[in-house]
Amino acid sequence: MATYHIETYGCTSNRGESRQIERRLRDAGHHRVEGPDEADVAILNTCTVVEKTERNMRRRAEELEAATADLVVTGCMALAQGEQFEDLDARLCHWEDVPTAVTNGECPTTTPDTEPVLDGVVGILPIARGCMSNCSYCITKFATGRVDSPPVAANVETARALVHAGARELRVTGQDTGVYGWDTGERKLPELLDRICDVDGEFRVRLGMANPGGVHGIREELADVFARNDELYDFVHLPVQSGSDDVLEAMRRQHRIEEFREVVAAFDDRLDHWTLATDVIVGFPTETRADHQQSMELLGEVRPERINITRFSKRPGTDAADMQGLGGTLKKERSKAMTDLKMEVCREAHAGMVGDTHEVLVVREGTGDSVKCRDEAYRQIVVTDAEERGVAVGDVLDVEITANEAVYCFGEPA
Ligand code: SF4
Repeated sequence: MATYHIETYGCTSNRGESRQIERRLRDAGHHRVEGPDEADVAILNTCTVVEKTERNMRRRAEELEAATADLVVTGCMALAQGEQFEDLDARLCHWEDVPTAVTNGECPTTTPDTEPVLDGVVGILPIARGCMSNCSYCITKFATGRVDSPPVAANVETARALVHAGARELRVTGQDTGVYGWDTGERKLPELLDRICDVDGEFRVRLGMANPGGVHGIREELADVFARNDELYDFVHLPVQSGSDDVLEAMRRQHRIEEFREVVAAFDDRLDHWTLATDVIVGFPTETRADHQQSMELLGEVRPERINITRFSKRPGTDAADMQGLGGTLKKERSKAMTDLKMEVCREAHAGMVGDTHEVLVVREGTGDSVKCRDEAYRQIVVTDAEERGVAVGDVLDVEITANEAVYCFGEPA
């Protein structure tokens, strides 16, 4: 497990987001340390309210970069002025992606004490614990074991309770949602999603991470479920981890690139607009220059709207920890090149939305008087002056997209 140091600047919204980052890191077994020099990863949650703050953020990022092996910068300045950190060896990401960036490519952990939680209008619905894989870099699997899937009826009942308690967005989570039911000999994810969508009430459903290996065998059926249920966000998180079959084999991933492509094609066939999110580990010990190039080419071709990049680091007790690693400078160079590509791909996708109108659900309060919304494909849209415009958390409304940043858009009620 990793050690992390986190610093938060700015408003209460930023502090709330840092609390959520910490909760997810704690759940995954990572430990907070005081001071960047003791940490595997330093996290800087930035603010950019005035020019002086901006200068302070930049200076602090430089200090943290010098003090730690790995720096993740998130928050308003990272998203709105990412170019300010371009010359630093830092990974920029949306705060929601910080836990993934820290966890070395391992799947999110549902710990034994994980329970359904209502957080504002967002209901967290863990459907199973554990996975069916044996990835060579993963330490999480030692803690959580093989997949253990409660019956469909039990999960639907929990979904109903969350909706009854006020959930407008249900987040279906698990270490690998794609293998739900495998321990019982059946692939039950499509049935589960259909039945959750049938629950009475007005809500949306976000499917959490599903490994391509688990989804491949049910890709047609699963894409059909998305096509017939408006409640499901058209958002699929398929961590590919590398664009090279050789690296995937060394990682002991259960898919190959062709299978990943086939899953993407099944969703492309059935959905007009959907968001593909993926994760990539950069600098795996066996990754050659050509392997890295294949990863870059895959991302450039498939163009996922969300890309979580993790720089490989060894976890004790894993087989990958015994492999001869790549040098830090090489990993930094590759990570920087991939981050540049990610920013280009993500910015292009969001710029393409400007001028369109989307139906959104308001899921959270944002900075100042803004609110954060999600459209049909789970893309984040920020509406400012929310109170003046009579827009509140839980509302569903049409917004016209007026501007964009790399990983989110701004919109106005249409
Ligand atoms: S799928 Fe792989 S990375 Fe994810 S928890 Fe299982 S072994 Fe770990």
